[in-house]
Amino acid sequence: VLELVDISKTFGTKTVVQKTNFSIQKGEVVSIIGPSGAGKSSLLRMINLLEVPSSGVIVIDRQPVEYKLNRASQLTFLSKFKLSKVRSKVGMVFQHFNLWEHKTVLENIIEGPVNVNKKSKRDAIRHAEELLARVGLLEKRNEYPGNLSGGQQQRVAITRALAMEPSVLLFDEPTSSLDPELVGEVLQMMTQLAEEGMTMIVVTHEMRFARQVSDRVLYMEEGRIVAEGTPEDIFDSKDNPRLTRFFSSLH
Ligand code: ATP
Ligand code: MG
Repeated sequence: VLELVDISKTFGTKTVVQKTNFSIQKGEVVSIIGPSGAGKSSLLRMINLLEVPSSGVIVIDRQPVEYKLNRASQLTFLSKFKLSKVRSKVGMVFQHFNLWEHKTVLENIIEGPVNVNKKSKRDAIRHAEELLARVGLLEKRNEYPGNLSGGQQQRVAITRALAMEPSVLLFDEPTSSLDPELVGEVLQMMTQLAEEGMTMIVVTHEMRFARQVSDRVLYMEEGRIVAEGTPEDIFDSKDNPRLTRFFSSLH
């Protein structure tokens, strides 16, 4: 579904992601863990071009994404593969939900499908309601985000991403800004998505989720993926001092 080849990102003189290679197959769930500042968010943000790679190639659904910067450092594209196309194939869920506060739940969800995917409003609403019903949020369809709990807002944000029918869904610490009692409902929704075969990349501090739900875990440090394997390989590793140090820093 997705492949990154020798992707690097430099801010000024600081290289935050170094020549990283990564690929994910359809239906796979990959968790990315690692200390603060390791470059996890930067890596994720490059996948949907919220951040432009300094070098390297991104391939989505077998098509290389060609991009370049103009003199004003704005993204311009060389291929037909447009930014909106990339964004509609790669869904993203943020730590702080990023819902539009002045739109209702339903309006938030249909925005992309109508404006980017050019769906009819009627179809978009029908699909949105179907998705909301599935997560038990249909009765909230006309509420504004401010009237929902954090857990509900995050579930709406995930639903909004799903409404675009993406090839892959990216999560950047989706439960980090939630009160502890609301974390469970979001993780449960993500677990269900994983079981339904959604392709997911999850940056997370929830080690239990990473262990139980992932097919593969990547450990990043200083801009590199320094360990990679099944959850057992990573979490039960006894011979990697970096992992041992990281896990013991967690509690
Ligand atoms: P955390 O667990 O705290 O979220 P992270 O692994 O997601 O950390 P990144 O946010 O990717 O780490 O940051 C990696 C490094 O890149 C950090 O040193 C950060 O200060 C730097 N960085 C990130 N974005 C920018 C930017 N826009 N300009 C300059 N430096 C940046
Ligand atoms: Mg981050």
